[in-house]
Amino acid sequence: MVYANFKGNSSEGHALVNAISHHCTCTFGLFGVRVTTCPPHDALINDQLWLDSMLFERWRLAHVAPGAAQRVIAA
Ligand SMILES: [Zn+2]
Repeated sequence: MVYANFKGNSSEGHALVNAISHHCTCTFGLFGVRVTTCPPHDALINDQLWLDSMLFERWRLAHVAPGAAQRVIAA
């Protein structure tokens, strides 16, 4: 199995993890064991194109409309 490889910096990684946790719908059973994985967490692990696209979109927003990426993530 090949996992997706995050190519951003630590700041971008923290922002992505925060955004995903905000929208997470994973379910957990006894002792916190994950029972189902939500689509964003699944993509974070398995979808290189999705991960690259998230970074590109953040970069694009930062350059096209400075400050927009922070406002989108905070929403
Ligand atoms: Zn999740």
